[in-house]
Amino acid sequence: MHFSLVTLFPEFFASPLQCGLMGKACEEEVVSFSTVNPRDFTDDRHRSVDDRPYGGGPGMVMMCDPLRRALQSIPRRGRTLLLSPQGRPFDQALARELATEDALTLICGRYEGIDARIEALEPMEPVSVGDYVLNGGEAGALCVIEAVARLVPRFMGKTDSAAEESFAAGLLEYPHYPRPDTYDGVRVPEVLLSGDHGRIARWRREQALRTTLLHRPELLRRAAL
Ligand code: SAM
Repeated sequence: MHFSLVTLFPEFFASPLQCGLMGKACEEEVVSFSTVNPRDFTDDRHRSVDDRPYGGGPGMVMMCDPLRRALQSIPRRGRTLLLSPQGRPFDQALARELATEDALTLICGRYEGIDARIEALEPMEPVSVGDYVLNGGEAGALCVIEAVARLVPRFMGKTDSAAEESFAAGLLEYPHYPRPDTYDGVRVPEVLLSGDHGRIARWRREQALRTTLLHRPELLRRAAL
């Protein structure tokens, strides 16, 4: 899958996309990335990408033209997401849906946001990563990239990992315990040492239900129980 990132700060992405599983997936060409900077599509001496909003108010707004030209320079845009606190909440269901695409474009806003006319002129879907306001869309874009890329076939070694994780079946995941079996007096639940796979599966299911009830009870209403 190819991700095109429209950003005023391409350097923001350098390290996160190079380390860990994401770095490996890039080397193996499971995913690839390119950045496009609207500043490279300006005509004035100051390479201006922002201006004051009509009607007044604090802060600056990203102008349509450099952003639009940046978008139009992308050869294969695929589904285009506009990172915005006003967008559709991004969740695992949307991540799964996006993971079936072969190209995605993510637009990162800055300042007070983007000239609202851009949404009427170019196809794009506003997406929010949570009910809070970030300085820019880059951190949100990284969340989307991480969540989507790991569902792309061949990204993860064990294909089962994604199937058992939180949200996959509508529940949060059960707790995990690696060695040692007792740490500072706290023992791993006995069932996990029993070798009885049936009991372990039942215990994990119960723990997933319990964790979901404790931390995210509203998920239980929609979960396929
Ligand atoms: N003035 C905007 C508002 O009140 O809705 C907030 C603008 S924010 C400072 C700048 C940029 O950060 C936005 O254009 C968007 O790209 C990004 N951003 C901020 N919060 C976000 C969120 N929760 N989800 C996705 N993108 C976000």
